[in-house]
Amino acid sequence: MSDQIVKVHHLNCATLCPVSLKNIINNTCKVLSKLPLRIPNILKDIGGKNVQEVIHEHLVCHCLLIETKKKLILMDTGLGRKDVQSSGSRLPIEFLKIIGRPLLKLEETAYHQIIKLGYSPDDLTDILVTHLDVDHVGGLADFPQATVHLLDAELDSAINPKSYIQKHRYLAKMWDHNPKWKTYRASGEKWNDFYSVKELEGLPTEIKMIPLRGHTQGHCGLVIEHQGNSLFFTGDAYISKKQLQGITPFEVLLFNKLIQEDINLYRENLERIIQLKNEALPSLSIFCSHDPDEYHHLSNP
Ligand SMILES: [Zn+2]
Repeated sequence: MSDQIVKVHHLNCATLCPVSLKNIINNTCKVLSKLPLRIPNILKDIGGKNVQEVIHEHLVCHCLLIETKKKLILMDTGLGRKDVQSSGSRLPIEFLKIIGRPLLKLEETAYHQIIKLGYSPDDLTDILVTHLDVDHVGGLADFPQATVHLLDAELDSAINPKSYIQKHRYLAKMWDHNPKWKTYRASGEKWNDFYSVKELEGLPTEIKMIPLRGHTQGHCGLVIEHQGNSLFFTGDAYISKKQLQGITPFEVLLFNKLIQEDINLYRENLERIIQLKNEALPSLSIFCSHDPDEYHHLSNP
């Protein structure tokens, strides 16, 4: 019998408070002066542009927990118990002090929320990740038994980092428990205006992986078809719903300078997402990993 989705839960698996424009202008972020020159210079550059639009003070790490008839599946993990228990010392300083500044609450970890929902963490069979940045995979080690599905280009970038940005963004300790990786090449069917959509091995056909390269080389989105509706989880293909209205807040400028691996591909995919959003299909919800409004709308329908 083929597997089928029974229930979809929206979880916030880490609250982030990235450095604000106010911090930059008032020079109240003391850690900036201690970091490599590249980052303070970029921040000064952006701060000098008199940017008006900012994103929320608190961001979420939107993850999905999916119960099927046969499996329990997590989409992205947010931060994990080790990140919280180490008071963040496990995380890169740029993430801990500037672009992430997580609140580090044990109760926000997927591990604890899975228990609270009445499941056992040992029952988690599969994890799908949009990409391998720390705020999306900090919790991998909490579920060592799970098969981890991702695009092959993402695993390759993380295991054999080549560029400056790859060498600094990935943290090998996030997967030193040696996960059961299941990688996919970017080739397959079409879904709306997106190409190379893959169905995933051993998972219901209602779940699909959509390559959305740009933020990283192997970044992907995930589609979940459930009860006549489609959820399109776009990971970090954008970080604020304002971007879907053509607005570029300060933090987006910062991210574009610091952490987009291929800004042209990033913009191309964002344009496709905006077009799809503008079609306003009533059965389709589009959301990213970090926008709190999107998260609250979907978690409290
Ligand atoms: Zn992220």
